[in-house]
Amino acid sequence: MNRALFLDRDGTLIVDKVYLSDPDGVELIAGAREGLVRARQLGYFIFLFTNQSGIGRGLFKIEDTQRVNARMEQLLALAAPVFDGICVAPEGPDDPPVYRKPSPRYILETVAAHSLDPGECWMVGDSAADMRAAFAAGIRAAAVRTGRVPPESLPEVAQGKVPVFADFGSFAATLR
Ligand SMILES: [Mg+2]
Repeated sequence: MNRALFLDRDGTLIVDKVYLSDPDGVELIAGAREGLVRARQLGYFIFLFTNQSGIGRGLFKIEDTQRVNARMEQLLALAAPVFDGICVAPEGPDDPPVYRKPSPRYILETVAAHSLDPGECWMVGDSAADMRAAFAAGIRAAAVRTGRVPPESLPEVAQGKVPVFADFGSFAATLR
């Protein structure tokens, strides 16, 4: 069966600037590129899974997010496709959730579509929503220290259910 990484964007692959809509504001987190290279070498599918409530809040448009994503891919300078799929969840926190994490819907649909082994898949992120989406989908979760809050402030981390890594590159270095 296939295996995959589901990767959060802000605070995991790029610096979390909060409601980032300007491609010029994209700043890669150290180790992101190396981590993606390693995951590819090991044969992982790679999916980007990002909540962008700024769209639902009317702060910017999906096209802005797409430009930010494109700039991130440009800076990563990896062979295309960098991601096998991208899910941008545009809902605001008060909208009915469709794909917005902690909804596991994108992960569940992707696991089915790509015949993934849930036990060999990870969601890597910096927020409780990332951890909860992973557990709701039955995959593994890892937290990184590159977000805006210390991972220890996340209940799932405090409860010892989620391993913590300095950054995504450090996580990927442990994959076999
Ligand atoms: Mg994040």
